[in-house]
Amino acid sequence: MPRYSLQKRSLVTGGAGFLGSHLCERLLAMGNEVICVDNFFTGTRRNIEHLIGHQRFEILRHDVTFPLYVEVDEIYNLACPASPIHYQFDPVQTTKTSVSGAINMLGLAKRLRIPILQASTSEVYGNPTVHPQTEDYWGNVNPIGPRSCYDEGKRCAETLFFDYHRQHQIRIKVARIFNTYGPRMHPRDGRVVSNFIMQALAGEDITLYGDGRQTRSFCFVDDLIDGLIKLMNSADEVTGPVNLGNPEEFSIAELADLVLQATGSKSRIVFAPSPVDDPRQRRPDVTLARTLLGWEPVVPLAIGLPRTIADFRSRFFA
Ligand code: NAD
Ligand code: UDP
Ligand code: UDP
Repeated sequence: MPRYSLQKRSLVTGGAGFLGSHLCERLLAMGNEVICVDNFFTGTRRNIEHLIGHQRFEILRHDVTFPLYVEVDEIYNLACPASPIHYQFDPVQTTKTSVSGAINMLGLAKRLRIPILQASTSEVYGNPTVHPQTEDYWGNVNPIGPRSCYDEGKRCAETLFFDYHRQHQIRIKVARIFNTYGPRMHPRDGRVVSNFIMQALAGEDITLYGDGRQTRSFCFVDDLIDGLIKLMNSADEVTGPVNLGNPEEFSIAELADLVLQATGSKSRIVFAPSPVDDPRQRRPDVTLARTLLGWEPVVPLAIGLPRTIADFRSRFFA
């Protein structure tokens, strides 16, 4: 379709969520027009209230499981509940969002001949038997468990992306995102960073699941957004999948100590049972992102955690 404006028009699905809101903000700062599409299942207007009224920003309440006809130059497909509490609330809808949502957004990309980025996840590796995970590892995923709606939904979305690429020559960019944290995380998403911060600030017990020796790596949101934008703007032949995450690995018990130190809280640490299929170890190998995109995370937990705590304090304990 002919166009009058030279500004790039970006569509961000899931734009009112944690990552989506930071992405919308960054794209606006780059001078793009941004259409934020969200059904407000886990995202909130509050996450984007500072963008409302911006000349180049627009919000559409829409569920990506239904077709969407808009005219844009690129698509960032982030719509999907991301934390276990949220994606297990309505697991059928979670799979529909990943699968039907991907089909609709790929159909849109196909009609417009534009690039599309998929927010995939380290969960496609399941409970990995290879450590750290490189992109060529196929994963160890339970197809019928309580996490499957998310893991298998995201795996099927990746399949669709690669089939649209092979069959219809769509320019695809698949990012496998590892645990990311930062301001605007949902306070009750049950994730470890948000749980620990909320518990520490409220003076409640810190709930350590299992023995606390399981590991994760935590990427600060600003680093992750840099990675997504670099990936979208990479050469056409760069399709991914590309791991994006922080390779510095911490045990969950170490994280609990860091949160206690950074908040100055007197909360006690208590042990609780491990969730079903809880991966023991997770750390990205980001060699590919470093080589292809010149990207690597620069914000350590020691800097990102206090920034996140300050945000939680101002939102919930002011
Ligand atoms: P989030 O829950 O804050 O954001 C997801 C957004 O998608 C929300 O605003 C929600 O309302 C919206 N949404 C859900 N279903 C929708 C639908 N059917 N139609 C339209 N909008 C819908 O989660 P997040 O942490 O910002 O995650 C964003 C994306 O990144 C997700 O696709 C997630 O799977 C992926 N991801 C996130 C992480 C992480 O650590 N945060 C890790 C791996 C992958
Ligand atoms: N679609 C959409 N917006 C568009 C173009 C397509 O939402 O601008 C949806 C449409 O509903 C379709 C899906 O994307 O079901 C897949 O499109 P594709 O062209 O691959 O398939 P087809 O239309 O042939 O089923
Ligand atoms: N976890 C914990 N206490 C909590 C929340 C989570 O010990 O209050 C643990 C959880 O069992 C897992 C790790 O922290 O081993 C990361 O959990 P999260 O749900 O944040 O992310 P994911 O399992 O998807 O990586």
